[in-house]
Amino acid sequence: MPAAHAPFLDLPTEEFREILRENRIPGYRAGQVRRWVFARKTFAFDEMTDISKSDRAKLSGLFGNTLFSGKLVTQTGSEDGTQKILLEWPDRHRVESVLLRDDRGHRTGCISTQVGCAMGCRFCASGLDGFVRNLSRGEILEQILRLNALLPDPQRLTHLVIMGTGEPTLNLDALLAALAEATAADGLDIGNRRVTISTVGIPAGIDKMTAADLPYKLAVSLHAADDATRNKIIPQNQHCGIRAVLAAADRYFAQTGRRVTFEYILIAGVNDSGADALRLAKLLDRKTAIVNVIPYNPVPELEWKSPAPRAVESFVRALTQAGIQVKVRFRKGDDINAACGQLRRSYRIS
Ligand code: SF4
Repeated sequence: MPAAHAPFLDLPTEEFREILRENRIPGYRAGQVRRWVFARKTFAFDEMTDISKSDRAKLSGLFGNTLFSGKLVTQTGSEDGTQKILLEWPDRHRVESVLLRDDRGHRTGCISTQVGCAMGCRFCASGLDGFVRNLSRGEILEQILRLNALLPDPQRLTHLVIMGTGEPTLNLDALLAALAEATAADGLDIGNRRVTISTVGIPAGIDKMTAADLPYKLAVSLHAADDATRNKIIPQNQHCGIRAVLAAADRYFAQTGRRVTFEYILIAGVNDSGADALRLAKLLDRKTAIVNVIPYNPVPELEWKSPAPRAVESFVRALTQAGIQVKVRFRKGDDINAACGQLRRSYRIS
């Protein structure tokens, strides 16, 4: 039966209650549905057994039987425990989302905010097809709920990183509405400090986050310490320059008191020299920040290569000796195309 309303996950609870009222369904059903969705990982009205059969039938008539609007196209699992899902929306556009596990017990959902991406970062498969559209609040929330449902009870997602396809600050309203549900006590109850929004570094976008005084962590993709190199890696940099990005990150720190993470993908022969490390150390001197160094994961369509292990070691050593806090992160799920945008591209809309 076709749904008569916007998808359930796109509706704030107050609007959902209003629809219940208009259809003579008791308002307390809203709380019951939320408990099924967020606490019991149940997404079909038919299965919500503490709701009367007649109200379940009414709800299915209004919203369709499943609360999800996407269709699961494929689900893949990696030897390292990473799982990846590819979802298709009714307009046939697709996004991918990843569940990462580590030996500290962290279960992290990596979420997309857009179909395609306009930023065109040269190391990223998502940018190859350009921007298609923003995802809605419900489409972002659906990714989070589906990843959470991959975990066996009583496990739940512990962390969220907004690092999938898309530039989050260009779809901030929908993202923040979805995150509000993911972090709500009667939602998934993920701690605010366990949510990281990762931006390519658009100063106006970072300032929007600063103005909203968000409780979340900010990660900025830096990937170079001079404008000429950064322009090659992130074309968006030509519009603003590194200094403006760092100044916006400083304002975020000054407003929120939360340390900013700078992501630095290390690419052989592009940004991995000793001189690059020294420039980066100078740029971040005296900042309360941490650098995540991520050895590049080759994308089949692109020519860049992974750095040699020795180059990674000496880059990190140079930063550490200059007093910069550094972590080296290796990408997970290489055997299931977990680099951003790769799965979506291997299942193109025909
Ligand atoms: S890295 Fe992120 S911002 Fe850059 S093209 Fe890929 S999805 Fe877009």
